[in-house]
Parts: sequence; structure tokens; C-alpha cells
Amino acid sequence: MAKKVTKIGVLTSGGDSPGMNAAIRAVVRTGLYHGLEVHGIMRGYQGLIEDDISKMEGRSVANIIQRGGTILKTARCKEFYEAPGRKRAYEVLKKRGINGLVIIGGDGSFRGAVKFSQEFDIPCVGIAGTIDKDIHGSDYTIGFDTAVNTAIGAIDKIRDTMDAHDRIFIIEVMGRDAGYIALHSGIATGAENILIPERKTNMNDIILSLQEKERRKKLVNLIVVAEGDEFGGANEVQKVLQENLPKAEIRVAILGHIQRGGSPTGIDRLIASRMGYHAVECLMEGRHNVFVGILNNRMHYIPLEKAVKNKANISEEWMKIVKILAS
Ligand code: ADP
Repeated sequence: MAKKVTKIGVLTSGGDSPGMNAAIRAVVRTGLYHGLEVHGIMRGYQGLIEDDISKMEGRSVANIIQRGGTILKTARCKEFYEAPGRKRAYEVLKKRGINGLVIIGGDGSFRGAVKFSQEFDIPCVGIAGTIDKDIHGSDYTIGFDTAVNTAIGAIDKIRDTMDAHDRIFIIEVMGRDAGYIALHSGIATGAENILIPERKTNMNDIILSLQEKERRKKLVNLIVVAEGDEFGGANEVQKVLQENLPKAEIRVAILGHIQRGGSPTGIDRLIASRMGYHAVECLMEGRHNVFVGILNNRMHYIPLEKAVKNKANISEEWMKIVKILAS
């Protein structure tokens, strides 16, 4: 039988995402409700290895549900990739008597947790916090909805000036391996073309349609590109288009880190609260080395090792919607 969890640690790791604070708050308050001791670990696995840990109370997480970023800070930690680093982390937890971990992060953080839980008897539960939504097994990840809404707000503003001047605008959104932010924000802003890493783009078709628009003197066109698309982002796409449309005014806007920040949306606060609550319940019920996901609005507990990047999941239908609605 699994050992009873009495003292838990919570950390945020890897890329930050808006809503992580709401998840921390839920973990701390649910843990305290159940009579657990809850410890906040600073800067992800780095702070764990360096024993940068302090006890948390209910008021430690007051007034943070609406704040972006993470009060526990986050980091990337080289040592945790290696066995001696993970051993050091284990020794710190042992010394402090922490016997359960909640890891809020992306698939990299989960891969680290898988190794750690295979090597040591510290149960881990993951909460998917990533703006990219590229974790297999959950319809939601914390921060995605906020990032999409931030992108939508920015693209709407750019569209106003684009329309006023008859320009082609190429807007790059985040997503090195995943095109969900591009797809969702692009559809929601009526983009004519959306370029994502998961699907091949027929650049010839785009060029032909732009040349046709140029002939009709209606060269207004919004293209949303994920940073990891096959051409290598908005600047590269611009070069290709400019070569084929030498007279056109083609502008690029790279939205960058504004997509990571800001106050989380209602959806992100809600899923972070639910996931945080359920992560603690998992630890207490002995459901270990899983992450908490939401599928069809129900909580699911998925083995951490299955949280691999979810690449091939963008169907032809999505692309058809883009094409039909922009025509
Ligand atoms: P994210 O969790 O946002 O995907 P990273 O991929 O940078 O971000 O992972 C965060 C941290 O998790 C890394 O800095 C490292 O400490 C740990 N980690 C990631 N992958 C592994 C792995 N294969 N083995 C051990 N630790 C890992």
C-alpha cells in the first residue's frame, strides 16, 4: 500500500504561464484543508536541489489568483537532467520530511518527474501549465486561454491599421512545436491564412491568392504564423512573399512574450483551481505519478509518462474552417 502523504511540496517549473498562481493557491489551500503541511519550492527543480523551500500558510497565497507569472518563480535546471542532481533533490525532501510533490509545468517538467519518481519513493502529481496546450491527454492546459486572448487583443488592434492602409500583415505568435495559439487566435480574428508546425503549408496557393487580390486592388490580408512553422517564423514568410509580390506592403509583427503574461482569464483561473484541488486529492488517495487533465469537462488522471507532446492532433477540418471562413 502507498505510504500516507503528510507533507507536500509544490513547485512551478519550465515555461511560466498565466494561471500558475491560481493553481498554487488551490494546492496550498486544499492541502491545508486536509491537514497537510504544504511547502513552496522556489524556482522549480533548481530551488529543490538548492533547498530553497519554505512552509506555506493560507495567507501566503492570498490575493494571487488574478496575477500572471508565478509567486514561486520558475527556472530551467540542468542538474535535474542528471542522476546526481535528482539524488540531491531527493535528499533535500527526505531531510525535510516532504513525502509528496505537486509539479506545475510543461511536458519537460513532467519528464523530469517521471525519472525522479522511478528512482525515489516520492509520489509526484503533475498539473499541466503551459500556454502551448501541447500536452497529450487534456483539453486544457493552464495559460492557453489567456495567451490566446492576449493574441486576439493584439491582432484586433493590428487589423485596424492593416485595413486602414491596405497591407498584408504577418503576425507571429508563440508555439515552437505547437500551433494551437496560432490556430485559435487566427480563427478568432478572421485570419486569411494560418501557418502551424503540425501541417504543411501550400505557399504557392497563398501567393496566387495574394496576386489575385493585388490585381483587384484589394491587398488586405492577415496571416497568423506560429513561431515554429516550417518556414521559420514571420520574417522568413515575409521574405518569400515579398519576392513574389515586390510592390506589396508586407508588415511583420512578432507578439512575443506579452503572450505569457497578464492576468489569467476566467477559464484559466477555473481550471487551475480545479486541477490544484484534484492534484492534492490524488496524492492523498494514492493515485501517484499521474497528471491531472480535463477531458470533456471531467477530471482525468493520466500517467505522467503519457504526457508527451501532442503533435498530430490538428485535423483537416480545422484548416477547412480557416479556408472557408476567410473566403
Ligand atoms: P517545460 O516543463 O515548460 O516543458 P522544460 O522542457 O524546460 O520546460 O523542462 C523544465 C525542467 O524540467 C528542465 O529544466 C529540467 O530541469 C527538467 N527536465 C526536463 N526534461 C527532463 C528530462 N528528460 N530528465 C530530467 N529532467 C528533465
